[in-house]
Amino acid sequence: MKPAVVFPLITLIFYCLVPSLQARADDMFTKARRGMIQAIEKDVRQTSRYLDRKSLDPAVMSAMVHVPRHEFVPASYRGSAYENRPLPIGHGQTISQPYIVAIMSDLLNIKKEDQVLEIGTGSGYQAAILGELAKKVFTIEIVKPLAEQAAKRLKRLGYDNVEVRQGDGYYGWEEHAPFDAVIVTAAASHIPPPLIRQLKPGGRMMIPVGTRFMVQQLVLVEKNNRGKVTTRQLLPVMFVPLTGGH
Ligand code: SAH
Repeated sequence: MKPAVVFPLITLIFYCLVPSLQARADDMFTKARRGMIQAIEKDVRQTSRYLDRKSLDPAVMSAMVHVPRHEFVPASYRGSAYENRPLPIGHGQTISQPYIVAIMSDLLNIKKEDQVLEIGTGSGYQAAILGELAKKVFTIEIVKPLAEQAAKRLKRLGYDNVEVRQGDGYYGWEEHAPFDAVIVTAAASHIPPPLIRQLKPGGRMMIPVGTRFMVQQLVLVEKNNRGKVTTRQLLPVMFVPLTGGH
């Protein structure tokens, strides 16, 4: 065959093959994602006495089905993206376990019109889940390269309602306060007072509280309509520490 014929032929084969390989990879992830959902449901049933519920809000589960976790992990971990466990994302940080992402999102009782603040963007995965549930998500990450990568990734995936900022989340995001819900995805020694102040009356906060690199307690903070704050320890968890100068 003449080169003039061979080259277009190779190009044609290439363009026919690439979408089919892509479709196969998508199929593989769809199956793995189904496995992840079943693992979350099983963990929820096993911990239902801590959570005060036997299953999670269908909207939360649908967000877990919808968000492509494989897009939020480093290429070398893509094959493990749908295992129900945390994975390294570089800079000594991790993307949280899917079960933890699901229960924290569920316990926040997010409504479609809500504005949510997240501290600890990391990969941006939890922010994407919140973006599926809320009207607007503001998320703060202290490690600059992680903040930049997450912002780029969320934009590429179409999460236009998620805004990422680099900074110390201990102080919240005053310009956009108050928030209907606040979620902290790094372990703090205490509940940061600025975050309590920036929570709306009737709002909820989820935060892991405890010592660095030890088991912490996942705490639900509720501010009632008169502004009274109550806290409840739900279950033991393990998060990377909240850092910063505070
Ligand atoms: N929510 C993330 C995982 C969180 S890991 C995800 O879905 O991938 C915790 C993150 O909190 C890390 O990326 C860490 O750098 C960040 N972090 C730690 N201290 C912080 C602080 N004071 N302000 C903002 N981010 C912080």
